Amino acid sequence: MTLSDLLLLFALLTHAVIVGVWWAAGSQLSLSSKAAGHWMLGAMAHGTALILYLLDDRLHGSAHNILADALVVIGFVAMRRGLQWFLRKERTDSEHLVTGAMQAALAAAVFVPLDWPGASAVLSSLLVGWVCLRASHEAYAIIHHEFGSKAPWVVVTPLVSVVTIMVARIAYVLFSLGQPHPLWKDNPVTQIVLILVFLFLAITLNFALGYAVVIRLVRKLQHLSQHDGLTGLLNRRAMEYLLDREAQRLQRFGQPYVVMLIDIDHFKRVNDQMGHAVGDAVLASVARTLSEQAREVDRVARFGGEEFCVLLPHTQREGALLAAERFREAVRQHPVPWGNESVTVTISVGVAAASDPTETVEALLHRADQAMYRAKAQGRDRVILAPPVAVGDALPVL
Ligand code: GH3
Ligand code: MG
Ligand code: MG
Repeated sequence: MTLSDLLLLFALLTHAVIVGVWWAAGSQLSLSSKAAGHWMLGAMAHGTALILYLLDDRLHGSAHNILADALVVIGFVAMRRGLQWFLRKERTDSEHLVTGAMQAALAAAVFVPLDWPGASAVLSSLLVGWVCLRASHEAYAIIHHEFGSKAPWVVVTPLVSVVTIMVARIAYVLFSLGQPHPLWKDNPVTQIVLILVFLFLAITLNFALGYAVVIRLVRKLQHLSQHDGLTGLLNRRAMEYLLDREAQRLQRFGQPYVVMLIDIDHFKRVNDQMGHAVGDAVLASVARTLSEQAREVDRVARFGGEEFCVLLPHTQREGALLAAERFREAVRQHPVPWGNESVTVTISVGVAAASDPTETVEALLHRADQAMYRAKAQGRDRVILAPPVAVGDALPVL
């Protein structure tokens, strides 16, 4: 087995694995099947192109080289189009059609008849460079927006590397035009280096795309694990984590904070008289109202059923009472449409201010809960402030 055979086998296996991974990601990992399909197509086109380049010694003429150049362009167009699907960006099909048509028309009408593989390589490098430049430009801002400041470089760096290598390829082909054999045919070392560079680029590019897919999946799972599906608010687990952090801030820096427990009044009646769907709409509406009324730094969570919890960092009880009254009034003022009528609900709010670093989060929530039940007992649609912790109450029992 020659070195060229080994490279051929390696190229085949690498691209088969890439195609398999995209197939699995499309069918199992909730990656858009359009994106996965395009990236599979890209890997197939690139794999076939690589095999044609590697079979150069064994094939006559230069039509296969010209076909391989066209396949490289098609592969990159497919990858860019897949990236556009993945990033939910409008597809630039007219641009892709012009790119493909230029490569195909010139290959069919000029390069093959005149046996001009060098010119085909220059054109395909130009087109690939252009497609990758455009892809990195359009992907940068979208990935930055969705994944933060570091992620765009993971995708953009391999794309810019492709552009650099295409420029080097053009320079190399133009430089060797005067030689008896214009391409790298008779120089096995150059051939091996070029093939390895091609393989390395294919692997890093697909890895970069895979990285973006995994990051999106992880973010989605994180979001699902921290948010409530019906209202979109934080769920209880996420709020408990935030409360623990706030308790630590109080212990370390003495920063006071406030929690509110909010329960919708007579919510069972809504469900019983108008149905569960209206109940759900009311829950979503109250959640929206609370989020709108909360400050940027406040956190609102659905604690369970029709009960909500609001965390107000860096807040004293007087400010919290004003905020709670604002919440109560806003919910009252936002009836939920129901057929030709509307449903108005009210809330009862228990407010507990945390200023004692020895009080546990559970004890603080218990105080808020007690205050909320007092609001219910006193006639609902009201705000009750929990009495402060009595000295010694919150100290651990020895
Ligand atoms: P109170 O004023 O004393 O709070 O009376 P209430 O009727 O609100 O009493 P309670 O808090 O016990 O009732 C909660 C009801 O909320 C019972 C349950 O069926 C309903 N519920 C809990 N989760 C959901 C939900 O996701 N959707 C709907 N539609 N209803 C829910
Ligand atoms: Mg309740
Ligand atoms: Mg209730």
